[in-house]
Amino acid sequence: MPKKIPIRQCVACREHREKPQLARVVRTPDGQVLYDARGKVSGRGAYLCRSQACLDKAVKSRAIARALEIEITSALYDQLAQQMKEAEGQ
Ligand SMILES: [Zn+2]
Repeated sequence: MPKKIPIRQCVACREHREKPQLARVVRTPDGQVLYDARGKVSGRGAYLCRSQACLDKAVKSRAIARALEIEITSALYDQLAQQMKEAEGQ
């Protein structure tokens, strides 16, 4: 029996994908907000496709803000976009 891969939904485009294909934006217990490419950081997370388009959409639609109960400032957005760029090589 193959191991069942969990499915998660991107908060931006609403596509369902296998969990390893998605990244997360995580609010850690000490209040940092990070782009988590490997899905390993503990904390409250929102799943996202590994694309700038979905990051932009998730910020503009306030999907991440709602999911994590935080305010996404433009500085935080820049930081997440940079972290995504570094992690995904885009
Ligand atoms: Zn997406």
